[in-house]
Amino acid sequence: MPDPAGRLALIVEDNPDNMLLMKDVLRRAGYRTEEARTAREVEERLQASLPDVILMDIQLPGEDGLTLTRRLRADARTAEVPIVALTAYAMADDQVRAQDAGCDGYITKPIDTRNFAGQLAAILGRLHSKAGAP
Ligand code: MN
Repeated sequence: MPDPAGRLALIVEDNPDNMLLMKDVLRRAGYRTEEARTAREVEERLQASLPDVILMDIQLPGEDGLTLTRRLRADARTAEVPIVALTAYAMADDQVRAQDAGCDGYITKPIDTRNFAGQLAAILGRLHSKAGAP
């Protein structure tokens, strides 16, 4: 499993409570974090630098997370950035739609604070080994 120490996670989430919770859990796990609440904020962040992973809420005000994901996948600069969808537990369709949009995995909300970092590490580890990196 890749070591999260110092990795930059961009958290895309419009709910302030969820944002705080994820930020706290990821920082405790050793990630650096950046925040965005809308698709526009994501694009502004990405112009400055690319994160190691994007945690993408599906339901956002304005452009939704899956439309944004499709756009990021279509752009050569952001096509390879790992994107993990945050889907509502009750919305099983969201998981299929997230995969179709180009997400690398999904984590259901409400997040389980004890397992969240482990879930993320498992998704990133799978990507890492798929890419054939040591
Ligand atoms: Mn939302």
